[in-house]
Amino acid sequence: MIFLIESNAISYCPICGESLIYRDSCERGMLLEGRERRRFLIRRLKCSKCGKLHRELPDFLAPFKQYATEIISGVLDGIVQPEDEDSVDHPCEKTMSCWHHWLMADQLRIDGYLKSIGYCLLGFSEELLNSGMSLLTELRSSIPEWLETILRFIYNSGGFLVSV
Ligand SMILES: [Zn+2]
Repeated sequence: MIFLIESNAISYCPICGESLIYRDSCERGMLLEGRERRRFLIRRLKCSKCGKLHRELPDFLAPFKQYATEIISGVLDGIVQPEDEDSVDHPCEKTMSCWHHWLMADQLRIDGYLKSIGYCLLGFSEELLNSGMSLLTELRSSIPEWLETILRFIYNSGGFLVSV
């Protein structure tokens, strides 16, 4: 079975923030838990400014397989510290630093998606989106379940995040 990954939202370049245009589609296999293999048809988009190609690919789930998103966001927000080792599913220090690196590396990409979703679905104005404000920073400071919210938004719109 082939799953078509597509979204009608305008996508923005995770590197420079410009809009992306459709280029072509390619097939990719992904191994799911339980050794189930799925094939995805993925759109490739090209940035109208820097020319970089981006794939719309939902494989960002990999780094989150073992832990609940509230543990991850707790670590990222500094609520869960390496010394709180009272819980069984407590991630090790190396895992925690991986998550911090992932968020730093994916910050622009996340903001690109949030801008795209904000424009198409939430009716944010272009002035707001071009103001240089980080929607990710805004979300993080306003709701405790920010990570679940952005993952749901991005995943539901057919988007992807890179894993480091
Ligand atoms: Zn670009």
